[in-house]
Amino acid sequence: MLDLTHYIDGEHHEGSSGRFAEVFNPATGEIEKRTPLASASELDRAVAAAKAAQPEWAAANPQKRARVFIKLAALLEENKAAMAEDLSREHGKTIEDSKGDIQRGLEVVEFVIAAPHLLKGEFTEGAGPGIDMYSMRQPVGIGAGITPFNFPAMIPLWMAAPAIACGNAFILKPSERDPSVPLRIAELFEEAGLPKGIFQVVQGDKETVEAICAHPEIGAISFVGSTPIARSVYANATANGKRAQCFGGAKNHMVIMPDADLDQAADALIGAGYGSAGERCMAISVAVPVGQETADKLIDKLKPRIEELHVGPYTDEKADFGPLVTAAAKEKVLGLIETGVADGAKLVVDGRGFSHQGYEDGFFVGGCLFDDVTPDMEIYKTEIFGPVLSVVRAKTYEEAIDLPMKHEYGNGVSIYTRDGDAARDFANRINIGMVGVNVPIPVPLAYHSFGGWKASSFGDLNQHGTDSIRFWTRVKTVTARWPSGVKDGAEFSIPVMN
Ligand code: NAD
Repeated sequence: MLDLTHYIDGEHHEGSSGRFAEVFNPATGEIEKRTPLASASELDRAVAAAKAAQPEWAAANPQKRARVFIKLAALLEENKAAMAEDLSREHGKTIEDSKGDIQRGLEVVEFVIAAPHLLKGEFTEGAGPGIDMYSMRQPVGIGAGITPFNFPAMIPLWMAAPAIACGNAFILKPSERDPSVPLRIAELFEEAGLPKGIFQVVQGDKETVEAICAHPEIGAISFVGSTPIARSVYANATANGKRAQCFGGAKNHMVIMPDADLDQAADALIGAGYGSAGERCMAISVAVPVGQETADKLIDKLKPRIEELHVGPYTDEKADFGPLVTAAAKEKVLGLIETGVADGAKLVVDGRGFSHQGYEDGFFVGGCLFDDVTPDMEIYKTEIFGPVLSVVRAKTYEEAIDLPMKHEYGNGVSIYTRDGDAARDFANRINIGMVGVNVPIPVPLAYHSFGGWKASSFGDLNQHGTDSIRFWTRVKTVTARWPSGVKDGAEFSIPVMN
């Protein structure tokens, strides 16, 4: 079994806490590696290295910092295929999907090459007699990122790239399920010329996360994961005076209007519902056809498409999706499917018995489709995070839009229609952060910002785009007067510019 490491102060370190997590190959069910889980004292070492390195990095001019990202982008491109192999082996997703995971992170790296422009402050000449006023964006200092298993390349880079481009040192606590690719990113950062101590990887679990939230030297925390943990990390981090942005789970609906191209909508639902075995925070897990005729036709189109899905290990080039990440994830998904059946939803396609020849111990679940799901059912309320699509039938557009509006989560949503008025009304009224019009997975590109509403996000600023520059910097505003020729005495009232 291979032992993974931390990456602290430019070097790989074996753990010293004596605590480890097993890393599986989800396709075979075998334990192939183990990762150390950091104690508070190991985190202290990383923070000390970050503290020593950060002032010089912040003082480097922004163009010089940006050049590291130009090199990093090229290195990620060169290493994409090998990294995708590692990623799929620990996560279970297909190689093409892993390449997409890396590509989406690479795009944020490309975005921050423009950091010198994005960091420019504001200036007002002559704000008063002889007075100029200017504001500048300065790094927070040391930032930390805590990331989920489902995008082990993209999400660390969402956080690390803007944090570092803005002059911060950054400590990543990746998911203990797939910790290899984050270590590779650390090596590539170093190859790209990043000084030691500016990007570090501290492997860990709950104990490590608690130490991060409590650490007095860490100024900002970015978290992505499930909602209960996002909520508690946000509460802990902010109670300790830190800036925090914490992104949680989702239940993304797609409304299908009677005038929609139903073949297009069905194809979109298959890709967005079952891609990556449904383990995406932007997966569509609820389809809401409007009108009985739309619903019946949609089910007729979905059923054969789901039955034909090719489920297999990442080594099978024909696989549409792979296994779930762990045995526990599989158990959770199967348990939720049971509740759906018990609550009276109609299981139109049942993937529970799926097994792949030669991979009988893998954590596979075949594609499942529920019809006649109602909002009181557990399968509607809970994020399943598996290859399970629920159809909730709505009689009218108003009934359809009401469903995502009233749901606890507010990450993504989509509408399929040919009616511009309906699409416009939907986009304006919906209380959800990312909206697709005839687009099933409306993940914003790197130069826009990513983030949900309601229980999908805690904190004010989103990932990447200009929000990320705001999150990883503090504004300082200087009012300066060079008083040649200006005479005044002591002033006791609040200064105003008359
Ligand atoms: P998770 O919440 O189990 O883990 C996320 C991180 O928190 C990991 O680094 C983990 O080590 C740590 N952690 C786990 N338990 C903890 C605890 N009790 N206290 C403190 N830290 C703890 O999430 P996951 O299973 O890795 O990822 C899937 C979840 O992430 C889904 O809910 C998905 O919707 C969500 N997600 C959200 C977004 C988004 O942008 N909104 C993106 C990707 C994934």
